[in-house]
Amino acid sequence: MLARLCLLGALIAVPAHAGQVPSRALDDEDLTIQAFLQAVETSISTMDRVRWTDLLSPTADKDQALEFFEAMVPQGITRVVVKERDRSALQGTLPGEGFQLVVEVFMETGPRGRMATWRLDIRRPRGENLGRQPWRILAEDRLASIEGLHRLSLHTEKQFAAKNLVLKAVDFELRLPSGDAFVSETPEGVTAIVLLGDGTLVFQPTPKEEKGQLKLFAGVEALETPFTSAFVRLNPFEFDQRVMADMLEPIAVDSRSYRRGLAVFDEGLPKSFNLDLSDLSRDTWSLLPQPGDFVAEVKTRRFDDLTYARSSGEPEDVTMFQRARKRNIAAYASEQKLQSRGRFFDEDDSVDYDVLDYDIDAAFFPEREWMEGKTRMRIRIKSHAIGVLTMRFAESLNVSSVYSDEFGRLLFIRVRNQNNVLVNLPSPVARDFPMTLTITYSGRLARQGILDESMLPEPQQRNSQPDDVPLVAPEAKWLFSNRNYWYPQNQVTDYATAHIRLTVPAEYHVVASGIPEEGSPGPAPSGTIENSSRIVPRLAYSFGTPQPVRYFGIVISKMMRVDAATVALDIVPTKAPLPDMRGTSTLQQQINRINAAAAIPPVGARNTVFLAVDANRRQESRARDAMGTAADILRLYSGLTGDVPYDAITLAMVEDEVPGGHAPGYFAMLNNPPPVQQMNYRNDPASFQGFPEFFMAHELAHQWFGQAVGWKNYHEQWLSEGFAQYFAALYAKEKRGENAFRDVLRQFRRWAIEDSDQGPVYLGYRLGHIKNESRVFRALVYNKGAAVLHMLRRLIGDEAFFRGLKNFYAESRFKKAGTDDLRQAMERASGRDLNRFFERWIYDNGIPRLRYSTSVEGSELVVRFEQLGEVYDVPVTIAVTYTDNKTSEFVVIANEPVNVAQFPLTGTVRSVDVNPDGAAVAILEKK
Ligand SMILES: [Zn+2]
Repeated sequence: MLARLCLLGALIAVPAHAGQVPSRALDDEDLTIQAFLQAVETSISTMDRVRWTDLLSPTADKDQALEFFEAMVPQGITRVVVKERDRSALQGTLPGEGFQLVVEVFMETGPRGRMATWRLDIRRPRGENLGRQPWRILAEDRLASIEGLHRLSLHTEKQFAAKNLVLKAVDFELRLPSGDAFVSETPEGVTAIVLLGDGTLVFQPTPKEEKGQLKLFAGVEALETPFTSAFVRLNPFEFDQRVMADMLEPIAVDSRSYRRGLAVFDEGLPKSFNLDLSDLSRDTWSLLPQPGDFVAEVKTRRFDDLTYARSSGEPEDVTMFQRARKRNIAAYASEQKLQSRGRFFDEDDSVDYDVLDYDIDAAFFPEREWMEGKTRMRIRIKSHAIGVLTMRFAESLNVSSVYSDEFGRLLFIRVRNQNNVLVNLPSPVARDFPMTLTITYSGRLARQGILDESMLPEPQQRNSQPDDVPLVAPEAKWLFSNRNYWYPQNQVTDYATAHIRLTVPAEYHVVASGIPEEGSPGPAPSGTIENSSRIVPRLAYSFGTPQPVRYFGIVISKMMRVDAATVALDIVPTKAPLPDMRGTSTLQQQINRINAAAAIPPVGARNTVFLAVDANRRQESRARDAMGTAADILRLYSGLTGDVPYDAITLAMVEDEVPGGHAPGYFAMLNNPPPVQQMNYRNDPASFQGFPEFFMAHELAHQWFGQAVGWKNYHEQWLSEGFAQYFAALYAKEKRGENAFRDVLRQFRRWAIEDSDQGPVYLGYRLGHIKNESRVFRALVYNKGAAVLHMLRRLIGDEAFFRGLKNFYAESRFKKAGTDDLRQAMERASGRDLNRFFERWIYDNGIPRLRYSTSVEGSELVVRFEQLGEVYDVPVTIAVTYTDNKTSEFVVIANEPVNVAQFPLTGTVRSVDVNPDGAAVAILEKK
């Protein structure tokens, strides 16, 4: 677990209590306990059983205490640090008479280290004068430990001359024909190598799309580039396999090259497999890479520092990145990984636990951007046995305690720069074990930009506001959602129900994932944390979230409730599908799945939704107008899917200089320009002239796609954004007619063609990532994704498409879906093999080139298509205009190297138009 976490990010774990020493003066109790811990430290550092037994209370179990000491304290200790982490009153003792201490013990035996968490029950024996250290141990226990820490150093007496050295990993090689090499060893063998000299880095990713990304980065599909130095970490048992004996010839150590090697070593070592133990040790302590794991930090001449990593535990085990610029260049599964996991993966398969329910109770102080809270989470263990739970939680929020109903107070470690909290369990727990954790915290919390399930077009010339236009600052708002980990959460998004309670100063208003509860907002009860800092009237908002949500969002701003109504929907009830049993292996899991499904209203059970519109004061009239539009949109979408996933949806109309929005479950936040200012973002994939309702339509669609139906991993994000975009287009057609719809389709096509060379839709967020062009991401994941859905609809016909859509939605509701699930649903609905369709349009990035000709033969129009490259499935519209101005349209499915189609004509043809609607994402050439 630690190894997985610490592999890539130069991660540094810090005991969470470090630096939180109470600021009050040490009292007598502190001093005597410090003296006691000093005595414990001495007994360990001298490995002296007598000193240890001297610390025991007369009533302690001496045999057990000795056994504990033998087991915990190794021979050959060279340094020990004991730090108190927690102190609570010992049950059954008078105040000040007994304590339960939680201590961290770090023991070094030369270059090896182990860290353990002990519980020590101590008590002051009555009537005895024990001097300055009156404490004696009643009982002791080991709560957790991390073994196998190494303080690595570069071997001072070993230097090698490289002789045609080749160091290989998957799709990767470091070649050093001649040069110097240094090593760092553990008793198990060599775990780090430093290479100096004129070498060559070779990286040849196997997958086609990764070749494409590499080309965007380096201009070539297979990288061969000179390097000057490299730092490599590997598993010591694999050294002999990876480095042939004749490639390294021992030579005398040359102090100048050793110093160069040491500089490379010191720079590379802290970047991976590393723990910083803070007040336990200032040294760099490393873990050994697991077999198969490999990291190379390479200084290249052309591309600065490149990091190659093979991390066998990850679903995409081969990565190449540029650390300094935080650019992922490659990330994919090796052949070996593909054989074990198959072509597709679900991020949920690698999580250790499932969050079932939350109770979030927090207070927010906008003027200080400060949050205090307590979150209770019910979880169920998913892995076979686990001793450490990893949670994502904003690094700036200080965790003061983690408590479990099952085990009591738990030890935890913060991982610096990682928004991670590692919670140690006293003993490993098994699969399906239920736990309830309560996490208490406080700290600064910065607001989040809109990124996921959201639109953020790049504004054009943001600073070019004419001088004479008065600037009005947008009303302040704080959005906390999936990006800033404002509540403790799983490693990946995780469907859970919730109860959320948030207090804010009374002038603010809160919109959150959930349905406002009776009496919300109400006065915040006195005596709670929220009233402790200063006397400001505060309100408590509370929300219930009965339907599972992928992540919870809140937006805090000076808003008012503008309108609210129950919207009647037009859902034709369908039969509830059986719960999905994919991935369940045990009967208990199946029962859990069935129970989980039973707690959620079946698809189509609801025929109304509660719609509310809240807004900043200056947006009131805009918000009032939005109500009817939003109701229309919800009616359309519920009809298309046969369902509305949530009982209530709130539209939050807020102000921002950039257009866009964000849509967690149960609400959609929409940015509007403050008065006078205009949003300027014409040339963007998300800008649709003539369709002002676009953002609202897109964000509301996310309740169905993105929220109710999630995505299995980053590759599948187009299911969320593509459907949101396509549903918005369908609303454009309903609201503004066929021409508006076609304008949108033509824009989809234009962006899809313009940016398809940047990679397949399936690359998700990585599209545009290397060059930092988020426009590319929107062009492909949003617009091409939507265009592909429309082509699919035309390929299989409306009836099959909309039936397949309903089935896909019903099967995927409150789950994560993948492209393959959509393919299967559409194949079942249409009875057609759609393999090639998805291969070409989603997993590949080509654009079909079609040469066409049209001719009138008798009373028929003959249309001929020839595909000039790979064959795609492309439906193309043919519009015929007759001399009497009547028109008719036909659709040709181009799906062979050559397709010829005939259509009956009803008059004299004036003109024939091919692809007038832009629905075919293809380059068309007239023969
Ligand atoms: Zn979106």
